[in-house]
Amino acid sequence: MPGSTPLPAPLRRFLRAGRAADRPTPTPASGSVGSVAAGGASRVVVLRLGHAVAVDTQARTVTIRGNDGTVDELGWDRLVLAPGSITRTFDIPGVREHAIGLKNLAEAVHLRDHVLRQFERADATTDAGARRALCTFVIVGGGYTGTELAAQMIRFSRRAVANYPRVRAEEIRWVLVDHAPSLLHELAPSLGHRAAEVLTARGVELRLRTSVKEVTERTVRLGQAEHADRHETIDTHTVVWCAGVSPSPLMTNLGLPTTHGRLVVDDCFRVPEVEGLFALGDAAAVPDVTRAGAPAGQTAQHAVRQAVAAARNVVASLGHGTARPYRHRDLGFVVDLGGRDAVANPLGLTLHGLPAVVVTRAYHAYALNNGSNRARVLTDWALDLVIPHQIVQLGFDNGRQPTIDATEQTGIYPGSAPQLPGGDGGR
Ligand SMILES: Cc1cc2nc3c(=O)[nH]c(=O)nc-3n(C[C@H](O)[C@H](O)[C@H](O)COP(=O)(O)OP(=O)(O)OC[C@H]3O[C@@H](n4cnc5c(N)ncnc54)[C@H](O)[C@@H]3O)c2cc1C
Repeated sequence: MPGSTPLPAPLRRFLRAGRAADRPTPTPASGSVGSVAAGGASRVVVLRLGHAVAVDTQARTVTIRGNDGTVDELGWDRLVLAPGSITRTFDIPGVREHAIGLKNLAEAVHLRDHVLRQFERADATTDAGARRALCTFVIVGGGYTGTELAAQMIRFSRRAVANYPRVRAEEIRWVLVDHAPSLLHELAPSLGHRAAEVLTARGVELRLRTSVKEVTERTVRLGQAEHADRHETIDTHTVVWCAGVSPSPLMTNLGLPTTHGRLVVDDCFRVPEVEGLFALGDAAAVPDVTRAGAPAGQTAQHAVRQAVAAARNVVASLGHGTARPYRHRDLGFVVDLGGRDAVANPLGLTLHGLPAVVVTRAYHAYALNNGSNRARVLTDWALDLVIPHQIVQLGFDNGRQPTIDATEQTGIYPGSAPQLPGGDGGR
């Protein structure tokens, strides 16, 4: 709910009523902690920068740790939780300490800088073995995140390496690991095969039916699903962990029913056990009525639509309008492989090559939420066709690898594991 958008009239009326009755300040659906307060006729959203670290559903309070270190308790009579998800790391030795996540922008920017830093170090070393390890990048997870990353990063690194005269393009290795037998297992098998062909043609090494056994600072050890005795150790300084997401730990700390860590809600986003508590997005198991009530997918496609529907239902809970169940039929997936390649299954059609590129780009442009963003992205795409990419480090890699826990701040919730040492992810 952007602060500059006037709230719907019923919500404004509620807010004014709330002020008159001197009730605790309610909290809207918002990523950061947002308090809705009566600050004027239409500008009523107050953004509190910080983390909601605990919720007391009996006392109806939320504990907020501000970015300035302050800790506050805020009362609520409606609370909407949409804290999203974090990288799922499993209990594989070394992943939490040494792998890089790709769940937020800070991690993406860090990864780009990190890759360029490896080339810089490779350029400076005369030890062939050390250079091989520096130029080897391993991605774990062949879903859309890992597949897109491998497809785009091999192109990026081939272009980048021209800036490092002692590193040869043939020395760069990108390895994509997944324990499934094919890539993109959420999509039609033909699309997974096509994506695998594109990646292989670009030089990405695929390790399917393979799982990660251990990650260290300088290696990753892989094992084959069907041959327990077969292991491979790859020397690398870079393991990117794209093996799925887990709902925010805030949800499992509430003491309320969850399914696979997602807070159980009804199809109107209400938590049945607690009046006035709503949840949506990746962190909530919102029933998808088009799939017999199975939890809706953890995608932006659902999350942004749920936000609108949830706002309406919160207002309805205050006596304005009627609550309506959430309903959205998946439109399909689009996977941008860069260049003239993409795979997509819009509305059940399976596409690849140029038609998929057109659909993928058109959908992404359409999905952007305002005209100025759309114009910037379209201009960027157009410029990409004629001007080479800028290969510049932004200074986020300061030599200390931030852990996934540190970058995604998973240790801030009471009872969660303390943060492991590392940087702050360059934030
Ligand atoms: C690399 C990648 C690519 C993706 N590509 C696509 C795609 O192409 N199409 C698609 O549909 N989906 C895509 N997704 C999935 C999509 O990003 C998520 O499903 C969607 O963002 C979920 O929305 P959300 O609002 O639930 O959570 P988020 O978008 O993650 O928002 C949660 C917000 O809450 C904040 N927050 C978290 N904890 C707290 C707390 N305790 N207190 C206060 N604030 C908190 C976070 O900082 C964040 O701003 C992708 C995901 C990844 C990782």
